[in-house]
Amino acid sequence: MFLTIKETARSRFKLLQFNAELMAQFSRPPTINVGGGQKFMTGLLISGNDVLVAASGSNNRRIEATANLKGYILCPEIRTSAGHFSRVGAAIPTLDYESTHRDGASQPGACAAPRLIEHAFTIPRIKNNWRNWEMSEIFYQPNTARRTRDDLFWVHGLSAPHCATCDSLIALLMCTRP
Ligand SMILES: [Zn+2]
Repeated sequence: MFLTIKETARSRFKLLQFNAELMAQFSRPPTINVGGGQKFMTGLLISGNDVLVAASGSNNRRIEATANLKGYILCPEIRTSAGHFSRVGAAIPTLDYESTHRDGASQPGACAAPRLIEHAFTIPRIKNNWRNWEMSEIFYQPNTARRTRDDLFWVHGLSAPHCATCDSLIALLMCTRP
């Protein structure tokens, strides 16, 4: 069984605040040339008093600074060599994990959502509170000149749907089968 993690007004607003602060951090000197590095998904997960944040791609010191400022736990990048476990602690074979990759979508574990979920599983008080998780994902790309797509899904500051890989990967991570 796969239970969807709910998005709430609270998780969404906290992530909007995080992204606003992130923009402020990016604009501080030395200013980083606005390139491909400023195009990623951000994600936030609330569990009790804990708030986890994650971004797709590489964590950089602007994201670290923003997480520190907010007192949020920044999720590390997922190592492909590390083992993967579902919510009930079942080991996910590497082949199963990798087979969630869908054509045209991200590599498994590259996005913000699986990073949040897998890191949440490593902290018992957060893992055990999974029924009460609140999660949001918002796209970050302030430079409109660098947009590569012309649809309404990937717009700076707006919620974005999971990619096709995450759809199957999140189901695998949250699976209750031992
Ligand atoms: Zn994804």
